[in-house]
Amino acid sequence: MNERDDASGHQKAQALVEIKGVNKHFGDFQALTDINVSIPRGQVVIVVGPSGSGKSTLCRTINRLETIDDGGTITIDGTALPEEGKALAKLRAEVGMVFQSFNLFAHKTILENVTLGPIRVKGVSKKDAEEQAMKLLDRVGVAHQAKKMPAQLSGGQQQRVAIARALAMKPKIMLFDEPTSALDPEMVQEVLDVMTDLAKEGMTMVVVTHEMGFARKAGDRLLFMADGKILEDTTPDQFFTEPETSRAKDFLSKIL
Ligand code: ADP
Ligand code: MG
Repeated sequence: MNERDDASGHQKAQALVEIKGVNKHFGDFQALTDINVSIPRGQVVIVVGPSGSGKSTLCRTINRLETIDDGGTITIDGTALPEEGKALAKLRAEVGMVFQSFNLFAHKTILENVTLGPIRVKGVSKKDAEEQAMKLLDRVGVAHQAKKMPAQLSGGQQQRVAIARALAMKPKIMLFDEPTSALDPEMVQEVLDVMTDLAKEGMTMVVVTHEMGFARKAGDRLLFMADGKILEDTTPDQFFTEPETSRAKDFLSKIL
């Protein structure tokens, strides 16, 4: 056994994301309490929990849209989350985020939505950015819509564009915060399919979702949150069949 191996004989590679002792307050309200999560490269982490349990806050903290209180730390690929400035912009580029509301730029074409980041933040030429964007739009099945405006696309198509836009920055990790919960039911699967493909390709992902089929198929790990704490850190199969805590049992009885 070499020194990189742990006691169980598994190889210990450096985690891509290390979240240690993270707390987050909004005034007197504690939204996150002592969050500790280490996410290896390529892992797909599903996050579930009741409304208000801190799932979005956790995603936003990983992306540094929220500051960390009380001395917790988050490192991404060995680099601590920077406070501001250029380093923060670079970090944000490495952490792709897809929200419930697609958040596309309404007055830009689909193509421009995908090229803007690489051109402005990464200094990619317009030609190269467009070439890459067309490949990504093709990959998510909306290349033929490239010249349209967001409002001309369905919700499912817009969300797939949002995924392409995040991928255009060549992120090391993708965060998805309830990416299908604002969609009409018939459009949910087309977005989950794109996410399943990404997972298969080895993308490291944190996905807040209550889509159990997706969680079991694509998820390697599941975190159950309640009251700003991680109460269970397990596998999707284990969680959905044998939840440990009464909070989880209660939660599942409401969503299943
Ligand atoms: P979830 O995504 O699990 O539904 P959130 O992370 O959005 O939960 O919110 C967790 C708690 O933090 C909620 O009680 C919410 O009201 C509170 N919260 C979130 N953002 C803010 C904010 N900017 N100011 C005050 N309270 C907030
Ligand atoms: Mg939320």
